[in-house]
Amino acid sequence: MKTVILGNGIIALSVAFRLAMRSSENDEIIVAGPTTRTGSATLAAGAMLNSFAEIEAGSLESELDLYRFELSHLATRMWPKFEKEIIEAAGSSLPYGCSKCQGFPGGGCVDIGTYVVNNTAADDLDDENYDAIVAALDAFDEPFKHVSPRDIPNYMPEQRHRATRALYIPNEGWFNPRLMLEKLDAALAKHPSVKFIDSPVDRLEKSGLQIDTAILENGQRLSADHFILATGATVSHVLNKSDLGIEIQRIFYGVGVSIEIQSPEFPHTKCIRTPNRGLACGIYTVPYFTNPDGPNDHILLGASNYLSPTPIHGGKISSVESILNAAIQQVNFNFYRANLVRVNVGWRPTSQDTYPLLGKTSYSNLIILSGTKRDGFHMSPVISEKVVAMLYGEPIDERFEVFSPERKPIRALTRKEAIAKAVRHQISANYQHGFNPAQNRMPAQLAEMYQDGLERLHDQVGAIDWGIPPEMLDMYRYGHALS
Ligand SMILES: Cc1cc2nc3c(=O)[nH]c(=O)nc-3n(C[C@H](O)[C@H](O)[C@H](O)COP(=O)(O)OP(=O)(O)OC[C@H]3O[C@@H](n4cnc5c(N)ncnc54)[C@H](O)[C@@H]3O)c2cc1C
Repeated sequence: MKTVILGNGIIALSVAFRLAMRSSENDEIIVAGPTTRTGSATLAAGAMLNSFAEIEAGSLESELDLYRFELSHLATRMWPKFEKEIIEAAGSSLPYGCSKCQGFPGGGCVDIGTYVVNNTAADDLDDENYDAIVAALDAFDEPFKHVSPRDIPNYMPEQRHRATRALYIPNEGWFNPRLMLEKLDAALAKHPSVKFIDSPVDRLEKSGLQIDTAILENGQRLSADHFILATGATVSHVLNKSDLGIEIQRIFYGVGVSIEIQSPEFPHTKCIRTPNRGLACGIYTVPYFTNPDGPNDHILLGASNYLSPTPIHGGKISSVESILNAAIQQVNFNFYRANLVRVNVGWRPTSQDTYPLLGKTSYSNLIILSGTKRDGFHMSPVISEKVVAMLYGEPIDERFEVFSPERKPIRALTRKEAIAKAVRHQISANYQHGFNPAQNRMPAQLAEMYQDGLERLHDQVGAIDWGIPPEMLDMYRYGHALS
């Protein structure tokens, strides 16, 4: 079997890895993608393995969302074995950063233990989402404990931004995604069935009901039995150039900034984060393991989310400013003395309906994997396992078809729910960015103003019996998303 995998982020490489582990002598696996990895979401990621800490009020109410959560929960359980397999396969080729790795957890670039803090930096949407996390932890019997914010290691927020409640989830962890990609690159590079090509794909060519060739930007033409398009946020761009005559909802660029700092006097040992808020993931601060010999004093601060129809290379200055301020004010005021190591800009692949696009297409040998938005790193062991089963014609849970790339956009929210949620998140975002209302009816008036604007937008785009996902509002407003 010859498989061409287009893309070289966590999704593409984890599929390549699982395929390589099952391959026999005559199999070929080609991974094509630029080694620069411009806009890679993976390299900018936290990369937190969160299921419960990501829960929001109302986010587990539909069967679809419960299924997505089930997969997320499964991913957490799959990571230790998956990581061990990668370490074993890389063997003596492990990169320096992983050279003394003890595996999962706590052996190197991966560790577990997440504190969720409920502070007053934004508005009471945080309280609702925090309550939803607690309710889910209880409902699913997930180990956790309520803790005093004062007992959280390296947690020293400014007085006005201190938490009133906090909890600790021992099983939710994080990776250094750079080391993970280096590790996967190393394991794949030494495998006899795998070949890397340092070039983006330009387009795909069809022949009847099959994809015939992937044409790379360097002019190379690749034929194969199977093609896997996993180029992250650029998937729609490649499909538009390919003219395959299939309808696949658009993937947008969820431009996210994260910031790596070095904090020698105030290093983190655990992840500290808020609940999701204001159309994004709140503020999080994650220990960032870099090498086995130096002090473990790097921390990743994240993250912003700015949705765009086209790539944005530099990120927004305002994103950098608000992440730094939030980390200093809400996690540890001593971070003002830390050293800046790097600002990452990654493009979260975000579909129009905000659910992932994962699976086969009308072309029997084309699989598309994108739209993983905020949790593609965490989900990669599950996604790669399903994809390899698809390639080998093995049965997979039929519920997974809900993510079929050619589906009509899922309309998960009613108009009323979507508008209520959007108003709530927009006001939460305002508070995060320093909103200080006058002592009159201003908050209520603002909510009414948002509500009126959102009703008009829904009318304009014909969203009468369905609701626009709140993070997609601008994409509908400016005509980038089609009804
Ligand atoms: C700031 C930030 C924080 C995040 N935090 C988390 C987190 O804590 N936990 C989590 O699970 N997820 C997180 N995510 C989301 C996660 O990073 C993504 O869901 C995941 O990395 C997507 O993987 P991917 O391989 O599809 O895309 P990418 O990682 O973007 O990889 C796509 C690759 O394809 C290459 N490529 C692009 N165009 C082409 C082309 N034409 N041909 C060939 N190759 C091409 C790119 O160079 C890139 O290397 C975060 C994302 C961001 C931006």
